[in-house]
Parts: sequence; C-alpha cells; structure tokens
Amino acid sequence: MNTTPLLPNFLAGRWQDGAGHSSTLHDPVLGTPLVRVSSAGLDLAEGFVFAREQGGAALRALTYRQRAALLGEIVKVLQANRDAYYDIATANCGTTTKDSAVDIDGGIFTLGYYAKQGEALGDAKLLLDGERIRMAKDPVFQTQHILSPTRGVALFINAFNFPSWGLWEKAAPALLSGVPVIVKPATATAWLTQRMVKDVVDAGVLPTGALSVVCGSSAGLMDQLQPFDVVSFTGSAATARIIRSHPAVAAASVRCNIEADSLNSALLDPSATEGSEAFNLLVNEVVREMTVKSGQKCTAIRRIFVPLELFDETAQAISAKLAKVTVGNPRSEGVRMGSLVSMEQKHSVLHGITELLHEAEMLFDGSEVALIDADPATSACVAPTLLGHRDPGQATTLHEVEVFGPVATLMAYEDEDEAWELIRRGDGSLVASVYSEDPAFIARAAAELGSCHGRVHAISPDVAAVQSSHGNVMPMSLHGGPGRAGGGEELGGLRALGFYHRRSAVQGSTAALDVLAATATPLKY
Ligand code: NAP
Repeated sequence: MNTTPLLPNFLAGRWQDGAGHSSTLHDPVLGTPLVRVSSAGLDLAEGFVFAREQGGAALRALTYRQRAALLGEIVKVLQANRDAYYDIATANCGTTTKDSAVDIDGGIFTLGYYAKQGEALGDAKLLLDGERIRMAKDPVFQTQHILSPTRGVALFINAFNFPSWGLWEKAAPALLSGVPVIVKPATATAWLTQRMVKDVVDAGVLPTGALSVVCGSSAGLMDQLQPFDVVSFTGSAATARIIRSHPAVAAASVRCNIEADSLNSALLDPSATEGSEAFNLLVNEVVREMTVKSGQKCTAIRRIFVPLELFDETAQAISAKLAKVTVGNPRSEGVRMGSLVSMEQKHSVLHGITELLHEAEMLFDGSEVALIDADPATSACVAPTLLGHRDPGQATTLHEVEVFGPVATLMAYEDEDEAWELIRRGDGSLVASVYSEDPAFIARAAAELGSCHGRVHAISPDVAAVQSSHGNVMPMSLHGGPGRAGGGEELGGLRALGFYHRRSAVQGSTAALDVLAATATPLKY
C-alpha cells in the first residue's frame, strides 16, 4: 500500500480523490516522497458545468466592489497560513525563504493590488469601454462599447516555477471580473497551489464553484472547453503548441492566452565603461537574475549584451560575484541559492548547458562549485553557470534554446544597431532590460525593442535604489511577450480584465444608453 498522502481535488463543489494512477511529488534536495496527486477518474464534465453554472452565476450576481472584497478576504486567509506555505515551498520547490517569498508573497501582493483596483470600480456590473460615438446626424442614435464578464470558466494550466503567484496573478483579475476559475497546477510543484485553494475553500470566502483545483494529469481538461470559456496557459513552447491547436481553441474560438518560454536580454549602453554606474547595475542585476529561484523564472536574463571592449571585464565582474553565491540545501544557514524543482529539471538544465557549449565558451563553471549540505548525485541543486560568445551573430542555438535554470550567456556587440538586431533574434521575449546613464539611449532602446518585448525595464542610476528589478513581474505593468514568448498579455493593472470580458457595441438611443450606463463604470487604465 502506498503510504504517501494523496491530495484531493476540489471540483463540482466537493473534495474528490483521483482514483487510479497517481504521481508522487518529491523533495528535490533530499529526494524524499512528499505527497501524491491524481486526477484519474474525475468527472470533468460535471466539474466544468458546476463551475460555469454555480460559480459563474454567483460571481456575476456581485458587483466589482463586492468581488474586490472577496479578493481581500482571500488575502487574509493566505496571510493567516503563510508559514505552512513556506514549509511546503522549502520541501517541494527546494527554495530558500527569500525565493519562496517571490512566489508566495508575490501572489498575495498581486491579490491585494487587484482588491484595491476593484474597489475603485464601485457597484457596477458592467464596464464602459470608451465614450459614446454618434452613429447618425441626429445624436439620438449612438454606439457605446461595453465589456461584460464572459459566461464561462477560466481554465488555468500553470507552470511548475510559480505554484502560488502563477495561480493568483491570473485568479485575481478572473474573479474580479466575475469568472470562475479551475486551476491545473504543474504536477511537480502542485502541493502549494492545492494547499492554498484548500485554505480558501475551507474558509468559505468564495461562492461554491468559483475556485476549483485539479491536480495531476491534464488529460481531458481542454476537451471540456466551450465557446465562452477562456484558457490561460503558462509553460513550455512545446506544450503551448498543443494547447493552441486543440479543437476547442482552433475550432470553437475559445479565447486563449499563452505565456511560453523566452530568451530575455540585458543590454549595457555602448558608452558605459568598466566600473561605471551602468556597468555595476548590469552586473548586479545579472547575478540576481541568474540566482533568484535558481534562474527558474520565465523573465530571467538569459542573454547579456555588452560592448565588445567590455566583454572580459564584464565576464570577470559577474564571475567574481557568482563565486560568492552559496548553493545547496535551503534549510542550511548561509545557503543563498536552493535547488531546481526536480531531478528532471536538473537533467534538463545540464543537458541545456551542454547544448549551449557547442557554440559558447565557459566563463564561470557551476559544476566546480561545492554544494552545501546537499548530495551532488541525488539533489537537484545546480550552481550558476556563465557562458560567453564574442561574436554572437554567428551563433544559432544561443538565441534559440532557453535553459530554465541559473544559466546565462554573455554576448558582445560592436554597435547599437547590431545590439538591437541580436536582441531581436530571441524572436519575441517577455522583457529586455537596459542599463544606461543616458536617457536618450534608453528612449532609443525602448523604441527599438518595444515591438518585440512585453516589457522594457530601463535602469539608470537615478532609479537604481527604487527599481523593481528585471525579473520581477509587477501587477501594474504588462506581463507577456510576442512571438516565441507566447503572444500573451497578463496583468497591466485593469487591462487584465479585458481577457475575462467580452466587448460588444451597443447601438441605441441616448435614453437606453443612459439606463445602461447607470449599471456600469468606465474602464480607465
Ligand atoms: P510544461 O511542461 O509545458 O507544463 C506546463 C503545464 O502544462 C503543466 O501544468 C503541465 O502539466 C501541463 N501540460 C503538459 N502537457 C499538457 C498537455 N498535453 N495538455 C495540457 N496541459 C499539459 O512547462 P513547465 O516545464 O511546467 O514550465 C517551464 C516552462 O514554462 C519554461 O519554458 C518557462 O519559460 C515557461 N514559463 C513561462 C512563463 C511566462 O509567464 N511566460 C512563466 C513561467 C514559466 P504536468 O506538470 O502535469 O505535465
């Protein structure tokens, strides 16, 4: 008999064990089994209908202000249970307390942000999109665009790296919009998501059916989707292709948001010199990005572009800081960077480094770093590795392969135009950061890189102390990226509500539009 506890799913308003095959979640540092998950045998059709009909109706009966208050209640529940979440993250994700905070407190902060934003929308049940537009010579006949909550379910299929934030950054705008959520966390780290949903469900703060969780296999989930449902996927480009080509999306026009992998860049101003403020800011940020959550962030810096004449100096400065990063068991005092989430990820990262080394030179070799309180053979710890290429225009793999761990490649450029061109070879990324003391250069970089990035993070000395950091996704700014990054858009303040609403043009008399407007509030960004 398997004595590892099985986590129940919450679907159709009740807790249900999967019956049949289960997957075991492990401690990635110690290798011990923790819990099991299974979605086998669940009546998914019943669960989706229940969420749509019970959860959706109950949420839509509330105003934006009332739903915002529910988000505030969720914040209280999660805050009351924070210690348990940190324990789960240490055990299941192998993260240090600081790195767990990025996920756990980042999720709670995002919920709190939307609770405040939603409060400001007041007691309306609809959103007005723009002003009325006259349709005839006589101003009595006009168009008003409105946004109404979609009458379906929001299915979230999430990645392993943010079991908390990945849920709440999507659930906050969905629930605020009045749309029920079914979340399917990535199996490797599903425990934290399941536990948070359990706490919220047990606290009874949401209408039944507003929030459900299915852990384990994704089989059959996409088949449940109907035209007014939406699906939001975060994960690899390979799985994204499967989602995008599913008949629900391809034939039934189910709205689909995809956040996939990304080869994010950092760029140093061509006029920077060794030891200048811009140079130091880039070095510090690269080291932070390579090591926070062991580089398992979709936004982490993967390619670092510096002027050719600063290549060696930058390599030395970054390597000197990486050498000081202590790696190992996150429970041990003094460990700054924990492990990857699983042995599978460790193998994938080590394989990825080998692949990049076909083109790149080794600048800082993580395999030579001694681990603290962790067995190099059985733990999923991987120390940071810096690679380099002095003529990256000649490289291919370096612009194509995302190694999802503490790995980045330093690349040289000769002039500004070459830098733009090389950065664009990422084929669309989530974020590029720029390090410069020159506002004119930053403005040029934003104009050159904006079309192929969801976010341009511009760091100059005057914002150094207050900047939110390259990889930190803040709820008021857009998250997503074109092309290879998936083409999705999330967050961006109230812009996020657009995904969960349907826009329609109401063409009618001024009198009718006045009545409609009394139940609505203008959506202002
Ligand atoms: P993944 O293997 O693509 O898995 C993502 C999710 O899809 C998991 O929940 C997975 O479930 C599920 N899934 C797998 N096969 C599926 C199928 N055929 N149909 C429906 N769902 C399926 O990605 P991952 O390894 O968890 O995540 C790492 C990747 O995510 C990285 O490439 C990273 O760049 C990307 N990422 C992007 C962002 C962003 O915002 N752009 C954020 C975080 C991560 P199982 O776990 O049960 O297989």
